[in-house]
Amino acid sequence: MEIACINAMAVRDLLLHAATRIEAAEAELNGFDSAIGDGDHGITMRLGFQAIRRRLSELPESTPIGQVLREAGKAFMGNTGGAIGVLLGRALMNAGAAIPEAQDLGPDELKKIFGAMERAVAETGKAKPGDKTILDPLHAINEVLSGSDGDVCELLSIAAQVAQAAARGTANMVCRLGRASRLGDRVLGHPDPGAMSFALIVAAFAEQTRNLSQSTQAAHR
Ligand code: ADP
Ligand code: MG
Repeated sequence: MEIACINAMAVRDLLLHAATRIEAAEAELNGFDSAIGDGDHGITMRLGFQAIRRRLSELPESTPIGQVLREAGKAFMGNTGGAIGVLLGRALMNAGAAIPEAQDLGPDELKKIFGAMERAVAETGKAKPGDKTILDPLHAINEVLSGSDGDVCELLSIAAQVAQAAARGTANMVCRLGRASRLGDRVLGHPDPGAMSFALIVAAFAEQTRNLSQSTQAAHR
């Protein structure tokens, strides 16, 4: 398959597609959070991604990928309350800082981004894999990508699959952190909302990258 070049404008499209998916899933994400938390996760994620949309529309077209990600993270953090605002905001900011010179998002850059996001969440939230958080899909992605070769489209498709499986797998875990830690075994059977929304974001990235490579192929025919 001919791989599309994911330049800085295409990276914005990944974020915008994720915004669309998150907005559409607001009620579902609130539902996951109602089961084990305070029911606001969908609202928070929607507000954060709406802020990302606004910030992206203000950035000059020449803004490099690293800065696009940093600005997205700042916008997310600045417009959301709750744990996830700080965690995902910082994760996006650190992802951008990890690839300051990148002109294109290739396999190496993708691996650096997910690596930086996992470190940011682990440091900020003091979470470990298995604690039933957004860290679980991130950790699963990095485990599998460290042993995977392929273009960015293939790697994102693998990442989306393992993130989804890891997010669903959080249903079998108890919470050690955050407000749900008080619920003990009652959280069993319910997936972690932050893990589920993160899996959705990665799925949107994979989907948008597939769309891009298909339209690149069509343009070459
Ligand atoms: P709040 O818990 O403040 O209401 P949200 O509902 O928006 O915030 O987000 C909750 C999600 O944040 C959880 O599902 C979990 O994935 C993530 N989370 C919360 N605390 C931590 C932490 N200390 N480390 C990692 N992730 C965390
Ligand atoms: Mg909540």
